[in-house]
Amino acid sequence: MYDSDESGAAEFDSGFCDLCGAPLSPTSQMFSLVPDSSVIHPDDPDQDGQRLLAACTPEHLGELRERHRQRPYVKEELWAGKIDRALRAHPEGLDEEQLAEATGLNFIQIEHTLSWESERFLRRQASLGDVDTPLGDLEGPEGDAGADGDDSPGDSD
Ligand SMILES: [Zn+2]
Repeated sequence: MYDSDESGAAEFDSGFCDLCGAPLSPTSQMFSLVPDSSVIHPDDPDQDGQRLLAACTPEHLGELRERHRQRPYVKEELWAGKIDRALRAHPEGLDEEQLAEATGLNFIQIEHTLSWESERFLRRQASLGDVDTPLGDLEGPEGDAGADGDDSPGDSD
């Protein structure tokens, strides 16, 4: 997803405060890396699982960090992202050994991730109800379960 943008080499990549949306300038900007298992770097595995927060002030950075701490860090989510990236890079497919090599995961982690993913997939199918189910005979009085406990508040320390 990279445009071959050869104009300015390494000029300031001005962004916006992740909290209030104020434009950042080179002189007023704060950055912080926080653990986030949903972040997969396009090509650098060392940067997986870390989100760069950008803020206009230390206060906003603190607020962002605080919010982020409430997000659960799920190892399987990170591993799934690594597997996904590897498979995207090799659309022809990989066997388990190649996958392990490409992701840096071991077989146990890969197995674990795959079952985690399919479990999650099934749960999502169940809660969405009628996605891709040609026979619409899933009639349950309890209907969709709605929110599954994706955030777990109150386990911060
Ligand atoms: Zn701000």
